[in-house]
Amino acid sequence: MRYSQLLIPTLREDPAEAEVASHRLMMRSGMIRKVAAGIYSTLPLGQRVIQKTKQIIREEMNRAGGQEVFLPFIQPAELWEESGRWEVYGKEMLRLRDRGDRQFCLGPTHEEVITDLVRSTVNSYRQLPINLYQIHIKFRDEIRPRFGMMRAREFIMKDAYSFDIDENGAEESYRKMYEAYSRIFSRLGLTFRAVEADTGPIGGNFSHEFMVLADTGEDIIVTCTGCDYAANTEKAEIAKPVVSDADPAKFQALKRVETPDMRTIEEVAGFLNVLPEDLIKTLVFTSSQGPVVALVRGDHDINEVKLRNYLKCDSLELAGEEVIEKITGAPRGFAGPIGMKNVRIIADYGLQGCCNMVTGGNERDVHVVNVNFGRDVSVDEFADLRSAQAGDSCPRCNKLLSTTRGIEVGHIFKLGTKYSKAMNCSYLDREGKAQPMIMGCYGIGVGRTVAAAIEQSHDENGIIFPEPIAPFSVIVVPVNTNDAVQMEIAVNLYNGLAAKGVDVLLDDRDERPGSKFKDADLIGVPLRVTVGKNAVEKKYLDIKERKGGEAQQVAIDDAVAVIERRLKQPEV
Ligand code: ATP
Ligand code: MG
Repeated sequence: MRYSQLLIPTLREDPAEAEVASHRLMMRSGMIRKVAAGIYSTLPLGQRVIQKTKQIIREEMNRAGGQEVFLPFIQPAELWEESGRWEVYGKEMLRLRDRGDRQFCLGPTHEEVITDLVRSTVNSYRQLPINLYQIHIKFRDEIRPRFGMMRAREFIMKDAYSFDIDENGAEESYRKMYEAYSRIFSRLGLTFRAVEADTGPIGGNFSHEFMVLADTGEDIIVTCTGCDYAANTEKAEIAKPVVSDADPAKFQALKRVETPDMRTIEEVAGFLNVLPEDLIKTLVFTSSQGPVVALVRGDHDINEVKLRNYLKCDSLELAGEEVIEKITGAPRGFAGPIGMKNVRIIADYGLQGCCNMVTGGNERDVHVVNVNFGRDVSVDEFADLRSAQAGDSCPRCNKLLSTTRGIEVGHIFKLGTKYSKAMNCSYLDREGKAQPMIMGCYGIGVGRTVAAAIEQSHDENGIIFPEPIAPFSVIVVPVNTNDAVQMEIAVNLYNGLAAKGVDVLLDDRDERPGSKFKDADLIGVPLRVTVGKNAVEKKYLDIKERKGGEAQQVAIDDAVAVIERRLKQPEV
């Protein structure tokens, strides 16, 4: 391709609205342009990167036995009513009506459509398992679209759905997708971790998020420093601490103290001149099993997902003022476990062994100090209820956990029979009996993956594309396009590389070399070949690596072979 003929509208300045590097650089390199909030046009350079990314995804999905389909973007309300999600999906779903006043939505995901397809086309165990996927647009009316393609409203997703006859089959399908995803993100040149995510009522380790590690990631990942345990913060377990109960000889006398209008941990700790970790946080919840009280140490955060899973309840939410008053006899901010009756009290492991603590006094403007378990408070059970932090112990190997930030680029999930039962997607087993299919769903955000790659690999001059998704592998830059000899050498090299199937860009623009070099750096082409005076006078070319900046001089006649060899050996 010749640069002069390509639409690559690079920008010298950072666009004001771009908060993160990938967004800034995708705009500046002319890959994308904004049309409306969270809605973008992809320009030729961006499209090349997206296509390469899609191609790798497609190859690995096919290798794993997936079959590509293309499902409609506009979906009828009836299908969503069948699954029960039309009512519950909420505002992320953009709904519309056709001229006959029938309701539709722009597909935010495709479980309903695929389940409808499979129930009407697959009916025997002999046709299963099956894995169908597509690479297609989704629309989600995100409350806060931001970071460009990272959290867009209209975006490309690879979504796959598996259908199996039984649990074992479903687990095998899941494992295949786990492996395919690992291969995809490795081939894309990304540093990533597959982390365990919460499965809600399904249970088991059957939801993994694939996270690209990057400081700007929205998600916090907990990883073990000793083994390969990794989980998102909702899910990450903490090893049960080995502590003995506090020594009663150390217990001091229980005392009520006035704490006028002091409600938060910080206010109370400051007022009483103690540390947050000396307080017991008392949280009242309402759940499908009735009210529940959870206790965590003042410096810890309750993890509602863990509490809900522990209780095995369908719904759980922080109680409102009325319930709090009914249970504690005091307004919010003064709850404590002493004397609470007729309510289940669960305490976090972190409170075991704690001594002489501060809690609310179940009376307005009153707290109690020197509270001790066993003597003053009886807890029904201790459990792992808080979010893991750096420094906690790994549930697998007891070594230290640490936290890093990540960008969720993929998500694999075992769905079980949620949709197949609701929508009657069944097969006939060997005995001719109808059974619901066991499903799984597997997504990759294509644009988000590209953004994550840039987030992970850039410098102050621009993008440093991983080679597999770089828009071009090589850019040939003649320093002076008016010099006929330079141009001839450049064009010959360009033709030679193109003939070998190398993705090469010839910067034939009549621009200052400095500005051409800047653009080459900005758009992140892995190799830059400069054709200047040295080429004319000494017959050699300057080859520069975008990553690391290493430069070498190569005789003109050897250039094609050297570059070819270099591209076959990916950089370290
Ligand atoms: P998030 O928690 O980030 O909103 P999600 O759980 O809603 O993600 P899934 O429904 O699992 O996402 O979708 C599968 C994949 O689609 C995600 O892993 C992500 O890569 C991508 N994705 C989801 N929402 C967006 C978005 N608004 N913009 C770009 N990509 C997205
Ligand atoms: Mg979402």
